[in-house]
Amino acid sequence: MNILQIRTSSRVDFVDITSRVQAAVTESQIKDGIVVVYVPHTTCGITINEHADPDVVRDIQYQLANLVPYQKGYHHMEGNADSHIKTSMVGSSETVIIEDGRLVLGTWQGIFLCEFDGPRSRKVYLKIVA
Ligand code: ZN
Repeated sequence: MNILQIRTSSRVDFVDITSRVQAAVTESQIKDGIVVVYVPHTTCGITINEHADPDVVRDIQYQLANLVPYQKGYHHMEGNADSHIKTSMVGSSETVIIEDGRLVLGTWQGIFLCEFDGPRSRKVYLKIVA
């Protein structure tokens, strides 16, 4: 298993980790298989979406904030209930196919770590399976 260390820079922050995942796949020398991209955290997730136009990420963040407001009479006393809920909405992992040593992603797709309670230091676990 590989571990990426990601430093996020604001409370909500999507970090494009596509090139770092590709670098780990390249280093593994595995040509055909899958890579599981997983975060062991309860207030940040992983998603795949467009990384060409940064407005797409802004719109995702904007609408998640509309759906799950920061303060809304939640029970969780830590004050970050919205972060936990958004994390469950986007999920904690993605699986990407590897062909000829390359991640199989669409032209516009990128892999994002989705920070919902930053800024923090986060870990991303990569399991590359041949
Ligand atoms: Zn909490």
